[in-house]
Amino acid sequence: MSEQYDVIVIGLGAMGSATCHELARRGVRVLGIEQFGIPHSMGSYHSGSRVIRLCYYEHPDYVPLLHDAYKGWERLERDSGESLLKLTGGIYMGPEDCEFIQGTLRTAREHDLPHEPLTHAQLARRYPQFHLPEDHVGVYEPKAGYLLPEACICALVQLALRHGAEIHGQEEVLGWDDHESHISVRTQRATYEAGHVIFTAGAWTSKLLGDIGVELEVTRHVIGWVWPKKPELFELGTLPIWGIDDPTGYFYYGFPLMPGVAGMKIARHYAGRSTTIDTIDRTIHPADEDDFRPAISKLLPDSFGSLLSMGICLYTNSPDHHFIVDRHPDCPRAILAAGFSGHGFKFATVMGEILADLALDGRTDHPVDFLGLGRFADSPGGS
Ligand SMILES: Cc1cc2nc3c(=O)[nH]c(=O)nc-3n(C[C@H](O)[C@H](O)[C@H](O)COP(=O)(O)OP(=O)(O)OC[C@H]3O[C@@H](n4cnc5c(N)ncnc54)[C@H](O)[C@@H]3O)c2cc1C
Repeated sequence: MSEQYDVIVIGLGAMGSATCHELARRGVRVLGIEQFGIPHSMGSYHSGSRVIRLCYYEHPDYVPLLHDAYKGWERLERDSGESLLKLTGGIYMGPEDCEFIQGTLRTAREHDLPHEPLTHAQLARRYPQFHLPEDHVGVYEPKAGYLLPEACICALVQLALRHGAEIHGQEEVLGWDDHESHISVRTQRATYEAGHVIFTAGAWTSKLLGDIGVELEVTRHVIGWVWPKKPELFELGTLPIWGIDDPTGYFYYGFPLMPGVAGMKIARHYAGRSTTIDTIDRTIHPADEDDFRPAISKLLPDSFGSLLSMGICLYTNSPDHHFIVDRHPDCPRAILAAGFSGHGFKFATVMGEILADLALDGRTDHPVDFLGLGRFADSPGGS
């Protein structure tokens, strides 16, 4: 026998847990289904920290969404009584003419965001941790910091449950069908029916949805935790979250030492090695260290004392590395949010509001037209 809901959310990672929370807060009968435990470390949100920042060089249209995302995280902290967001400030560095610096400044000015441009000399005086080429400058942003992703997901799911959501972990969605009047969703345990379905399946989106007219590429990324040679330079309160656009074409970033974490987290943000969700190599190899050790040892010479841990995490890249938030092209009762391309976590709270709006009202006041599927029509990666 089928069970009936207003909305079913498939995948309870960053976007799905926030969407379940938002729907339950609005009094909607919602079922959230997650194939693994909650939380888990098989997808895109694990590894203890996620950067949040406002001066978004990627595209100025993200800024209004970020203002609402910050409000959402602050409200989640109040409602859950937990500390989930830590403002450390952020220091962004690179050659003066690179897109990271120019885009950050453009967005900051366009949206009147607090920021402080730093010359090379100012940067070197204020942040002696970094040894950068002479042409590198900086931009400091006071409102940047980090979120604790596993704790955020647990808080979102727990509050969703307290508001009456039904949440099933360890239950894989095997398929779904569009009937004229409703959607049905099949798992290994049961078939469920709902008026609407929201797909927030991250790296599994293509496996679940098949062809949506856009290629979603899954890539493998390595994260490292190191113990610094001079820990006093990298303490929380001394070091902000940071990012460097390196002239080698890669972007390196990292966090200060944090309570409850053995080492300091560092990583490389880049297009990544293409893989698939069924063939990804989840084994950590000694050579994975090459992703960050040479560059970090050069750019932050006092940082790399010893390597403590490494982890694997997945990006799901859209062709232009911007998010996809839209209705399913062949099924208006299905909403999808995917392609968060390695920078989506910070938006989860506002994405929850947007996806709830789209399912319940068919529209949203949040400015998300730039994230629609229509932008790929007749473009490479679109089909
Ligand atoms: C190394 C790394 C660093 C990052 N750093 C940052 C950062 O600093 N700041 C930032 O904002 N973002 C960052 N991101 C990106 C961010 O974490 C992702 O954009 C975000 O997690 C994507 O959310 P999602 O809900 O689409 O996917 P996920 O969070 O992976 O959630 C998808 C969920 O769907 C479930 N699922 C899939 N298929 C099924 C099925 N058939 N049945 C049931 N459940 C299913 C999965 O198990 C999973 O739990 C980073 C990502 C990585 C990998």
